Amino acid sequence: MTRNADALREELEQRKQNGLPVYEQRRYANCGRPLCHRCRNGEKPHGPYRYQGWYKNGNLTWVYLGKVPVETSK
Ligand SMILES: [Zn+2]
Repeated sequence: MTRNADALREELEQRKQNGLPVYEQRRYANCGRPLCHRCRNGEKPHGPYRYQGWYKNGNLTWVYLGKVPVETSK
């Protein structure tokens, strides 16, 4: 699982270096912990988390790139 994710990340880097198109999306996630205030109150869940993906053998494959840094408000 981890090894596979590393391989995908490497492939993603190679694509970017070769100038091939890469999609980007941001997702929010529910952590599922019963005592989490954010999820329990139905507010905006955790994240955003950044993903980049491409069509690998005809399937859109997303690679998880970590949490997007929160911008400090003015
Ligand atoms: Zn939560």
